Amino acid sequence: MADFQLPPALVPDDGRFGCGPSKIRPEQVDHLVAHAHLLGTSHRQKPVRELVGRVRAGLADLYRLADGYEVVLGNGGSTAFWDAAAFSLIEKRSAHLSFGEFGQKFATAASAPWLSAPAVVRGDPGTVAAFAGDEEADIFAYPHNETSTGAMAAVSRHGSEGALTVVDGTSAAGGVAIDARATDVYYFAPQKNFASDGGLWFALMSPKAIDRIGRVASSDRYIPEFLSLNIAVENSRLDQTLNTPAIATLLLMDAQIQWIAENGGLDWAHARTKNSSDLVYAWAEAHPTASPFVSNPEHRSQVVATIDFDGSVDASKISAMLRSNGIVDIDPYRKLGRNQLRIATFTAIEPSDVSRLLGAIDAAIAAL
Ligand SMILES: *Cc1c(COP(=O)(O)O)cnc(C)c1O
Repeated sequence: MADFQLPPALVPDDGRFGCGPSKIRPEQVDHLVAHAHLLGTSHRQKPVRELVGRVRAGLADLYRLADGYEVVLGNGGSTAFWDAAAFSLIEKRSAHLSFGEFGQKFATAASAPWLSAPAVVRGDPGTVAAFAGDEEADIFAYPHNETSTGAMAAVSRHGSEGALTVVDGTSAAGGVAIDARATDVYYFAPQKNFASDGGLWFALMSPKAIDRIGRVASSDRYIPEFLSLNIAVENSRLDQTLNTPAIATLLLMDAQIQWIAENGGLDWAHARTKNSSDLVYAWAEAHPTASPFVSNPEHRSQVVATIDFDGSVDASKISAMLRSNGIVDIDPYRKLGRNQLRIATFTAIEPSDVSRLLGAIDAAIAAL
């Protein structure tokens, strides 16, 4: 098994199937090289500000943002955004859906001493939880795609008139189409479907969200500058960030936004990831030892496919055998602890490579 070798026809052109960091297309790296003169230059000067402006405008176009919505960005990734939201967005109390690691992490960040304890609706891994409807909260938060389990929620509004709907789009953005008007804040980091490196967060914000941020900022709450969304809004309007951003990350993101736009926009990306994930689920359903982990087909993610195996197959062995053939990062989310493979079907990943991967898994199982 240690010297298991895949037949060349089953070797994907690109073996990166991880859920973040994830495959970066060679053309993005070419774009980075072509703009290498921006690296090592001031983010306060025109060339880098134009790059930030292009990324902001490109996202506004991809999401066909309604009037008054703004693209805001800052440093620290989605994890930093959770803390920023606890300081800058939640007025008194938040409500959360927790059906995996990432939804729970935001709920934990919102358990801050200056806020009332959040209302948390929990669901088992592999399901999508739902708000009861009577939660008293000023923000309603949930992940669009729970990357740790491969369960995907519908994007819709919750709560009363004054409440904000705040959606973690980290692993869905750039690969799943949404109506941004159904959210007040749709935030994400660029290392998943946007195929860039980590370290930044982006948020599509409604006028109502920006009002809220202004109101919280003018209250007497202590807010560290780095976690002030008001400062992030002010800087973003100038195509800047409070502190130094990773310029290479912005350039890789820029290339991916342009590529998606040239191919037909988010609808194209959506159809592509749907097609790739359908291949994986159909394969698993037809397979004698495999099955989709998410039992409700409507909740199966089109960007992160999780496949369980029965006791006759050791998924970790398959992962190791494929890793030695250049196919990487198909292990399940580490804390989930299942006999599972987790496969990203992100926009950057070729559907033909997904087909080869499935053939490669078959070959590995046969060789076990
Ligand atoms: C990856 C991921 C995060 C964490 O993003 P970081 O940029 O590493 O902080 C948060 N939420 C979801 C849904 C994710 O997939």
